[in-house]
Amino acid sequence: MSFKDLQLNRPILRAVAEKGYDNPTLVQEKTIPLILENKDVIVSAQTGTGKTAAFALPILQRLYDKQDAPKKGKKIRALIVSPTRELAIQINENFEAYATYTNLKTTVVFGGASLEPQKDILKKGVDILIATPGRLLDLHKQDSINLDYIETLVLDEADLMLDMGFIDDVRKIERLCPNDKQTLLFSATIPFKVQDLAKTILKDPKRVEV
Ligand code: AMP
Repeated sequence: MSFKDLQLNRPILRAVAEKGYDNPTLVQEKTIPLILENKDVIVSAQTGTGKTAAFALPILQRLYDKQDAPKKGKKIRALIVSPTRELAIQINENFEAYATYTNLKTTVVFGGASLEPQKDILKKGVDILIATPGRLLDLHKQDSINLDYIETLVLDEADLMLDMGFIDDVRKIERLCPNDKQTLLFSATIPFKVQDLAKTILKDPKRVEV
């Protein structure tokens, strides 16, 4: 299978080619079509399988297809929640590379860094936000983040997120997003507490295992 077979559009195919990816990985092959169909999906995949592109590419494609608004007045339409700053930064770098030929804008916010520069970037408007849970809630409380326009919520490394004690934050974040959003849950392993979370926040989810 090729990336073209996955019905990705030209700006995204071009960015993927420039990254040097020849063909989709297994998790991408299985997950991308489901995300494009607006399904909720629970994916068990380890880091290194290409799971970031498995959600980033279809999210970019869907936002791009709906034509992005001018820079000012952009609303956050996709939110990726990540347990650690390092992972969040990595995810953002991937999104930026894949979005090179679109005018979709992404940014990342995380704790342990000053708030003001993050607020300034948010003020300019982004389509996609990658965030660690605590900082996301702080910025939301301070009215720097509006989650009313979220179309897709991704919980990445869900098992790690719960191990790190973020369950209440994750549930709070999920409730702050619109009811009719698409939710994607990625986890290396699916222990009971991840299943339990999935059961309460995913709607009729498809399961992908690699
Ligand atoms: P991840 O599992 O998302 O951490 O990705 C692991 C690595 O695989 C990253 O360095 C990606 O840039 C790379 N990668 C993702 N998709 C592909 C692909 N289809 N072909 C080759 N490399 C890829």
